Amino acid sequence: MRRIDLSNFQVATSETARDINRRIVLNLIRTHQPISRADLARHSGLQRSTVSVIAEQLIQERWITEGANGHTPRGRRPTFLHLNKERVGIIGINIRPVMTKLALADLDANFLAQDSLETPQDPKQFVADLVPRVRKLMTARAGLTCEGIGVSLPGRVDLVSKRLVFAPNLGWRDVDLKTPLEKATGLPVELENAANSCALSEICFGRRAEGLRNLVVVTVSEGIGCGLILNHQLVQGSTGTAGEFGHAALVQDGLECSCGNRGCWEMYASNSAAVRYYSQATRGAKRRSIADERTISFENLLRLAEQGDSKAVDALQQMATYLGKGIAPLVTGLAPDMIVIVGEVTRAWRLVGPIIEETVKQHSFTRAETQIVPSDPITQPRLRGTIALVLLKHFGAPAVA
Ligand SMILES: [Zn+2]
Repeated sequence: MRRIDLSNFQVATSETARDINRRIVLNLIRTHQPISRADLARHSGLQRSTVSVIAEQLIQERWITEGANGHTPRGRRPTFLHLNKERVGIIGINIRPVMTKLALADLDANFLAQDSLETPQDPKQFVADLVPRVRKLMTARAGLTCEGIGVSLPGRVDLVSKRLVFAPNLGWRDVDLKTPLEKATGLPVELENAANSCALSEICFGRRAEGLRNLVVVTVSEGIGCGLILNHQLVQGSTGTAGEFGHAALVQDGLECSCGNRGCWEMYASNSAAVRYYSQATRGAKRRSIADERTISFENLLRLAEQGDSKAVDALQQMATYLGKGIAPLVTGLAPDMIVIVGEVTRAWRLVGPIIEETVKQHSFTRAETQIVPSDPITQPRLRGTIALVLLKHFGAPAVA
C-alpha cells in the first residue's frame, strides 16, 4: 500500500490525470515501439479514444511519429507509432577520479557522439576544461536541439542545494557544478550520484530490471556506491546522501579510508583494493623492474587475470569475497528483487560471480530470493544513467499521493 505523504502531495486534478496518462502512453511507446494505438489502449487500460487524443497531441509536439502500416489478420491496417528520436538531444557526463566521459544521446538513450577528458583535481579547472567539450557535443548533430545535461558523480548530491556534498575519491567537498554548467551552456543540469543514476537507468532502460519493485545497484570502481530503489522509489534519505554503504565499516579497526573512517567496505572490495592486493602479493616476490613496481591499473589487473596470472586471479577473488561480505547485509536487510553490479569487475564475472554468490549465501541467513547480476559493460551503464536523469522528466511518474 502506498503511504500518503500529507505534507507533500499533488491534488489529482483532471490536469494531473491527463499528465499521468500522457506519460504512461509516451513510456509505453518508448518500451514497445513500434506500437499501434489499439495495442497502446490494451497495454495501458485507457479508452481507445483517450489514447488517440494523447497520440495526436504527442505527434503535434513532435515527441512521436507515425511509421509504416502494420499487419493485422483482417480489417483496417493500423499505423505504428514510435518515438521521434530527432526531437531532443541529451548531454550525459559521467565524472570519475581519473577520467570523465561525456556523450550526446537521443531520446531513445542511444549515444550519437562521445568524448572524454582527464579529470583535473581542481573542480574550477574541471568546469573550464569541460565546458568547450560540452558545447561541441551540443552541436554535434545538426538539427538536434539539446534540452538538458545529466551528470553522475562518485559522491552524493545535497537534495536542496544540489551541491556535491563530498566525493572522497575525487577529493572534492561542497562543490557547485550545477550553476557554472547551466550558466555556460544555457541548459538545465540534473546531478545525481552514479549509483543512483545507474539504478534509475536500470529501471528505465534495463531489460531485466524494468518495472522491478526493489532494486539495488552497486557501483564498483575506485570506491563503492549503492543506489536503492525500494517500493519503486529512489531512496535519497533526509539530505540526499542515502546509499553510502561503501563507507560503512566492514572491518573493525581496519584500513584508514579517504572519508576519515576506518575499515570501510570500499577499502576492501573496490578496484583500488584489488590493485592493492595484487601489489602486496607481488612485492617481495622475485626482483622486479621499476616499471613492474609502479602501481598496476585495474584494467591491467583484469587483463592479467584473463591470461591466467595466479596473483591477479587471487586479487580479484579476494575483492569478490569482500564484495559478497558487503552485499550480504543488503540482501538480509532489504531483501531486494535484484542486485545489479556495475563496474569493470563484471568483465571477470565468471571468476568473481560465483564467489560473490557463495559469500552472500554464507553471510545472509535469510537467503532472500535476490538475484545478483552483472551489468553489461558494453552498454556503458554509468554514462547511460546520466541520460536517464534528464529523460525521467518526460517518462517518469510524477509524485502523486
Ligand atoms: Zn570510507
